[in-house]
Amino acid sequence: MLEREVAGFGASGRNGGWCSALFPRSTASLARSHGRDAALAMRRAMIATVDEVGRAAGSAGLDIDFAKGGTVAYARSAVQLAAARAEVAEASSYGVDELELWGTQRVGAAGARGAAFDPACARIQPAKLVRGLATALELRGVRIAEQTTVSDWTPARPGHPVEIRTDRGTVRADRAVLATEGWTATFRATHRRILPLYSLMIATEPLPAEAWEAIGLQHGQTFTDYRHLLVYGQRTADDRIAFGGRGARSHLGSGIRPAYDRVPRVFEHLRRALIELFPCVRDAAITHRWGGPLGVPRDWHAAVRYDPVSRLAWAGGYVGDGLSTTNLAGRTLAELLSGDDTELTRLPWVGHRSPDWEVEPLRFLGANAGLAAMSLADLEERVTGRPSLVARAMGPLIGH
Ligand SMILES: Cc1cc2nc3c(=O)[nH]c(=O)nc-3n(C[C@H](O)[C@H](O)[C@H](O)COP(=O)(O)OP(=O)(O)OC[C@H]3O[C@@H](n4cnc5c(N)ncnc54)[C@H](O)[C@@H]3O)c2cc1C
Repeated sequence: MLEREVAGFGASGRNGGWCSALFPRSTASLARSHGRDAALAMRRAMIATVDEVGRAAGSAGLDIDFAKGGTVAYARSAVQLAAARAEVAEASSYGVDELELWGTQRVGAAGARGAAFDPACARIQPAKLVRGLATALELRGVRIAEQTTVSDWTPARPGHPVEIRTDRGTVRADRAVLATEGWTATFRATHRRILPLYSLMIATEPLPAEAWEAIGLQHGQTFTDYRHLLVYGQRTADDRIAFGGRGARSHLGSGIRPAYDRVPRVFEHLRRALIELFPCVRDAAITHRWGGPLGVPRDWHAAVRYDPVSRLAWAGGYVGDGLSTTNLAGRTLAELLSGDDTELTRLPWVGHRSPDWEVEPLRFLGANAGLAAMSLADLEERVTGRPSLVARAMGPLIGH
């Protein structure tokens, strides 16, 4: 494994710790593209992967704070309640995801009129998972070359292996997997394949038992609501709230820089959004702030691919759902690269190819227009009390 920084430096070491069954494309859109059976097979594989992450960590002897308490998605307006009802009804029409509609008595968020509850999600501590896995792999003989920057590569040809050039020399390999997610945009050959999108997070100090009583979240539960500009959170093992969201703008040329991880305006927006959800945290100190780039393909369709001619494989495009999906990708790649034909290698995301993103400055303008549209959609719903027309227009562009 070649890693420019340290294993876990990327989104995998800094995410919100939702080990969920979410996939960036909805079941309906997968069914439209690949057929109903294939869409349902994908859903089943994702749901099974939540437990598989816990099992794999356990069998490697890792404590990753895994607790499977499900996700509570608060509905905080009539429009959001209708969206929650529609989501639960749609899931039940497919008969795989086991979503439930909860009434007000079970939800502690301010102004909540109910919630949709999805049991298929565990809370974990992502840095413990990824650093632990790296150590476990090294113990099994895998060599992880950290501080090693890949610059480019040459596909295999008959009689020649894949050649990967790094700042520390050239690596020759029978097969190679590109798994750089947001950073995929930094290579010339794959520049337009992925758009890096920033997600930022804050964490409170540990909250006292009375606060948790008011908030109403158990250990293992993650939470969100039905606004369009996504927010997500979890109760950590040490009783903090770790809370994140979108809202940081994209950068021209799909740039990735450490400075982009920290945007005071977005941190403040997150703090206010958290207090609005749970007023009892108003005086809690914000002890941590961080962020990082995730990777968005043009059609929001994560994929795993292997080309036996070039002997190059790719896995990515998970958007904000990569924690468990990377596990499924890893298991699928192992079988694909071995040439096996299995249940996993027949899943509909295998072999999928997303279109490239537009050239600059169109990509930059489009990405930021998308962000602005999500904020506008939330405002529109607050003002009109009706489902946003802006969001409906954007739906097909974001995998719905
Ligand atoms: C703040 C945040 C919160 C998130 N929350 C969640 C969540 O709660 N649940 C969820 O499912 N998903 C979440 N995600 C998304 C999820 O973290 C990612 O989809 C997933 O971690 C991607 O894993 P990866 O291994 O493909 O890529 P990454 O973990 O991003 O790893 C890519 C690696 O490539 C390395 N690299 C880059 N360039 C080079 C080079 N030239 N040479 C060598 N190495 C290189 C990087 O250093 C990095 O370590 C979140 C993401 C962010 C940023």
